[in-house]
Amino acid sequence: MDRLQALLALDRLHIWHPFTQGHTAPLPVAIRSAKGAVLHGEDGRDYLDLISSWWVTLHGHAHPDIAHAIAEQAQRLEQVIFAGFTHEGAVELARRLSGLLPEDLNRVFFSDDGSTAVEVALKIAHQYWRNMGAPGRRRLLAFDGGYHGDTVGAMSAGARSGFFDHFSDMLFEVASLPFPATWDGDVNIEEREFNCLAALEAWLDRFGNETAALIIEPLIQGAGGMRMCRPQFLNTIATHCRRAGVLLIFDEVMTGFGRTGRLFATLTARVTPDIICLAKGLTGGFLPMSVTVCRDGLYQAFLGEAFDRALAHGHSYTANPLACAAALASLRLLLGTQTEAALQAIERQHRSRMQRLASHPRVGRPRVTGTVAAFDVVGEGTGYGARVGRRLQDFFMARGLLLRPLGNVVYLLPPYCITPDQLDRAYDLIEAALSDGAAFLE
Ligand SMILES: *Cc1c(COP(=O)(O)O)cnc(C)c1O
Repeated sequence: MDRLQALLALDRLHIWHPFTQGHTAPLPVAIRSAKGAVLHGEDGRDYLDLISSWWVTLHGHAHPDIAHAIAEQAQRLEQVIFAGFTHEGAVELARRLSGLLPEDLNRVFFSDDGSTAVEVALKIAHQYWRNMGAPGRRRLLAFDGGYHGDTVGAMSAGARSGFFDHFSDMLFEVASLPFPATWDGDVNIEEREFNCLAALEAWLDRFGNETAALIIEPLIQGAGGMRMCRPQFLNTIATHCRRAGVLLIFDEVMTGFGRTGRLFATLTARVTPDIICLAKGLTGGFLPMSVTVCRDGLYQAFLGEAFDRALAHGHSYTANPLACAAALASLRLLLGTQTEAALQAIERQHRSRMQRLASHPRVGRPRVTGTVAAFDVVGEGTGYGARVGRRLQDFFMARGLLLRPLGNVVYLLPPYCITPDQLDRAYDLIEAALSDGAAFLE
């Protein structure tokens, strides 16, 4: 047996992969190294990473600036307990993030991934109202198709995403509102937004005084199928929430750090939420870390003489210094003029290639927000279970392209270092797949 075969045999023997049916899944692709937007396989093949390795990679794989920052930090301070202790990297990162986020979003709670950032947000919202003497505000609001992570609280908030049917008995109740997804050339969006807002108003009329918070993925629902909404919708929601005294939580785990064209979706929407969750791109895709950032007034409600008012939550690796060093190095790259130009170039190219795709009979609801482009494959079933996604994924992988459709939704979410030629190649192959019946049959 050669080395690669031995590696895959051991993988089969010992590893339980995420979101994978081990019995039917093909052998995983072993990656040896990666550079920029390209993954180098152990089998000598290259794969162009069009999904930023599950939406985390910003500046490219193995970027030397971030790699050096981590290596340097590891020789100075690798980890320290974060209760009763602090360190320069965490302080500097919290200061930088506070400066980049609008208004008084300036109180940073660290945790480990997108799901925990959401758990923390929900717990803060819940305890906030208890600390404020309004324990009756316990209800939560979310949106159909929203996804907020795989832990129990995050699953509850995303219960309508369709991923969690096995766990429905474990979840607590979160009310769900319709989400006004839109696309290029959508003519009925105003009417749909109106209906969604009417549902929100009806809820708030009835339960406004009992509602703790509303959580939403601003501008793009990611795992739900890259469903995009208009910034003005977020603006109107915020007004309604404010009027009813309901806290607004933005889950920017996927949309943060440039994905939607600006640094954060909250800046595009011109809405300041009470709590914002950031993860995936925070460290440029190098290490797991997340933050839940709150408005200052919220934090004040947790202060007092008794420990009872404090937030009793924390994780072993809270504010890990290596992850903080990676995040600071990633932010330096993100704020450079080169990245700004790259974000604009990617969006321009998405728009022109999507416009060309739009006339294809198999393409429905073409849509672009910032560096994210998506369309539905028409006539092949819908939803995450639609088999066309798996067949297309195999078609692309066989041609050296890492694309991972969400059911019948094909999307591109490339790292910012992708070159125009690389992105063109991806679109050329998508056009080829759409015109090649073989990609759909089998
Ligand atoms: C991925 C994602 C999460 C969960 O993040 P993990 O790091 O996978 O736990 C939460 N919210 C949104 C919007 C996401 O895209």
